[in-house]
Amino acid sequence: MNARFLDPLAGPWRSPQWRRRLLWSLLAALVVALLVTLVWLAGRYEVSQVQRRLDRDASDAVGDIRSRLTRNLQNLQALQIGDPRPASWTAEAASLLRVYRELVRIEWRNERFDIVAQAGTPFRPPVFERLGRDTAQSEVIQACNAARRFNGPAYSTSYFVPLSNGLGVEVMEMCLPLATAGVITGYLVATYALQDLLEELGRQFTRSVDISFTEGDGTRLAMRGTAQRGARLFSARQLIDLPGTTMVLRMDSWRGAPELFPNVLTALVTGMSIALVSILLLLGKDMRRRLKAENDLADALAFRKAMEDSLVTGLRARDLQGRITYVNPAFCQMVGFSADELLGQGVQAAPYWPPELAEEYKKRQEVRLAGNVPPREGHESVFMHKDGTRFPVLIIEAPLINAQGVQTGWMSAFLDIREQRRVEELSRASQERLQATARLAMVGEMASLLSHELNQPLAAVSSYATGTLNLLKQGDPTPADVELAMSRIAEQAERAGKVIKSVHDFVRRRDQAREAVEPGALFDAVLPLVNLQARKLGVQVQIHCAPKLPAVLCDRTMVEQVLLNLARNGMQAMDRPDIRRRVLTLGVRRAPADARWLVFSVADLGPGIAPEVAEQLFTPFFTTKAEGMGLGLSLCRTVIEQHGGNLAFEPAGAQGTVFTFTLPAHSA
Ligand code: ADP
Repeated sequence: MNARFLDPLAGPWRSPQWRRRLLWSLLAALVVALLVTLVWLAGRYEVSQVQRRLDRDASDAVGDIRSRLTRNLQNLQALQIGDPRPASWTAEAASLLRVYRELVRIEWRNERFDIVAQAGTPFRPPVFERLGRDTAQSEVIQACNAARRFNGPAYSTSYFVPLSNGLGVEVMEMCLPLATAGVITGYLVATYALQDLLEELGRQFTRSVDISFTEGDGTRLAMRGTAQRGARLFSARQLIDLPGTTMVLRMDSWRGAPELFPNVLTALVTGMSIALVSILLLLGKDMRRRLKAENDLADALAFRKAMEDSLVTGLRARDLQGRITYVNPAFCQMVGFSADELLGQGVQAAPYWPPELAEEYKKRQEVRLAGNVPPREGHESVFMHKDGTRFPVLIIEAPLINAQGVQTGWMSAFLDIREQRRVEELSRASQERLQATARLAMVGEMASLLSHELNQPLAAVSSYATGTLNLLKQGDPTPADVELAMSRIAEQAERAGKVIKSVHDFVRRRDQAREAVEPGALFDAVLPLVNLQARKLGVQVQIHCAPKLPAVLCDRTMVEQVLLNLARNGMQAMDRPDIRRRVLTLGVRRAPADARWLVFSVADLGPGIAPEVAEQLFTPFFTTKAEGMGLGLSLCRTVIEQHGGNLAFEPAGAQGTVFTFTLPAHSA
C-alpha cells in the first residue's frame, strides 16, 4: 500500500503553500482574538470606573446628609439658647425654615409632648393639614423615647403623609430632648421631608443620576430624578445609620444606548487594532510580493543556468587578484579540467597554460590586472588541454562590474578556433592549388608560342652547326671561323635556354613570401613571356616606369602572374583585324592620393569592355573566349586584395581599357 495513505501527517496541507496559508490564518485568528479581548477589557475597565465613581458619589452623599443633619441640629439647639419666649422662638424657627428647605416643621413641646410653639415651612402647604398632626404622634413619641434613651437627638422611622392636593410626602421626625439640670423639660421636634432632603443634596449631581432613599427591602421612600431606563444601569447603595433609625441611600446612573467606543481608551485600543490589522495586511501583501520576486529569481537563475550549459563559448571570471571565481561547463570541456580543479586557481599559473608559454601569459595577466582594458575584438592565445594537446583560442575580455558599479574582476569568453584554423588552412591550400592550375593552363596556352620562339634559335644553332661541319669537311677552316660559329651557337643556345628558363621560373611553384622588389624587376621578369605573345600578335610593348620609385612589398610570383595575365588579356583584346595600331603599355607610378602605395597599370588599345561583360568580369569561370578559362581576373583580384591593394579597370582615353592595381610601397 502506498505509504502516503498510512502517514496521518501526509496531506495537501503539508505542502509549503498550504502550511503558509495555515500559519497565516492562525496568526490572523490570534490577532483578532487578541483585539477582541483588548476591546472587551477596555470596556470592562470603563464600566468598573463608572461603578467606582458612583460608589464614591454615594458615600459622599451620605457624608453630606450627615453633615447637613448635624448642622441642622446645631441650629435647632441654638433656638433654645437664652430661654426664649414662645413668640420670639416661633420667629426664629420660621427664619430657620426659610433657610433650610428640608425642614418642613419645627415644634417645641413640653415634657408631656404638648406643643408650646411651632413653625411650618413657607415652601409647602402645611403638611399635616389633611390628617392632623396627631396621626403622627406615635412616631414623635417613638423618636423622643429613643432620644431620651440616647440622651441626645434621635430619629423616627419615616412615614408617608398624604397631602391635601392629592399627593403625599415621606417625612421623618427628629426629636431633641431639652433638659435643665438633668431633668427633661421638653422636646424639640423637627420634621424632615425626605424628598426635599434629596433635592438639596442632588443639586451637585447631574440629571443622569437618580438618588433615592429606600428601605432595607428596596422599597423606594423618596427619590430625585426621573427613573429613566437605559441599557446599562449602575447602582450604588450606602447605609445611613442614624440614631433611632436606619435608611439606605441608593444612587442609580444609567447610560443611553450602548456606545461602540465608550471612551478614549477603547477608541485608542480599537484604533491601534485597526492599525495592527492594516499592518498585518500590508505585511501579507509584502510577503506575497517577496514570494513572487523569489520565484522570479529562481526562474531567472534556472534560465541562466540552462543558457550557460547550452553555451559553446567558454566563460571564465577572475577576481582582481587573478583567482578564477567562475567557469562554465563549456570552458571545463574545452580545457578538460573540472570546475573544482579550476576554481581558486590562477594567481601564479593556470593549469591550462602550456608550461613553455606560462612566463609570457603571466606577464600578460599582470598587464591585465593592472587595469589595462583589452581590445574589444579579442586576442588569440594557445591553451593546453588536460591531456597535453595545445589548441588555439580567441579570448574576449571585459571588466566585471558589480551592482554598485565597482569593478570586481574580469569576465572572459573563449572560442576554440581549431576548426576555424583548419578551414582557413584548407581554403589557403585550395587557393594555391587553383593558382598553380591557372598558371599551368596559361603555360599550356603558351606552349605553341614557345615552340615558335624556340624554333628560331634552334634553327640558327642547326644552321651554324651545319655550316661549321661543311667547313670542316671541305677544307681547313680558320680557327676564327670556327670560334665565331661556336660563339653564335652558344649565343643561340643561351637564348633558347633563357626562354625555357623564363617559363620554368614562372611555372615553378614557390613558397609564398613577401619581399621588397623593385617595380622594374617585376616588369623584367614577365617581359620575355609577354614578348613571346607580342611578337606573334604584332603588338608593340611599351614600359613607362616613373623615376625614383621605392620597392614594393609583395609576393613576387603572384604579382608577376597578375601582370602577365593583364598583359595577355590586353594583347588578346587587340587581336582583331580591325585594330591596326596595337600598343600595350605597362606602367608604374606613385599613387597620387597616398605616397605609400604604387599604382601599376596595363593599358591596351582594344575595343573596351561592354557593360554586360563588366558586370561579371571578376566572376570565376566567366569568359568570352572560346579557349578561355575565365579564372584570370578573379585570381588577379584575390592576389591584389591579399596584398591589401585593389584591382580596377576603366576605359583608356579614346580607345581601349586600362587595368590598374595598387601595391604597398616598402618603407625602409
Ligand atoms: P579569360 O582570359 O580566360 O577569358 P579572364 O578572367 O582573364 O579570363 O577574362 C575574362 C573576360 O574578360 C575575358 O573573356 C574578356 O572578355 C574580358 N576581358 C579581360 N580583359 C580585357 C581587356 N583588356 N579588354 C577587353 N576585354 C577584356
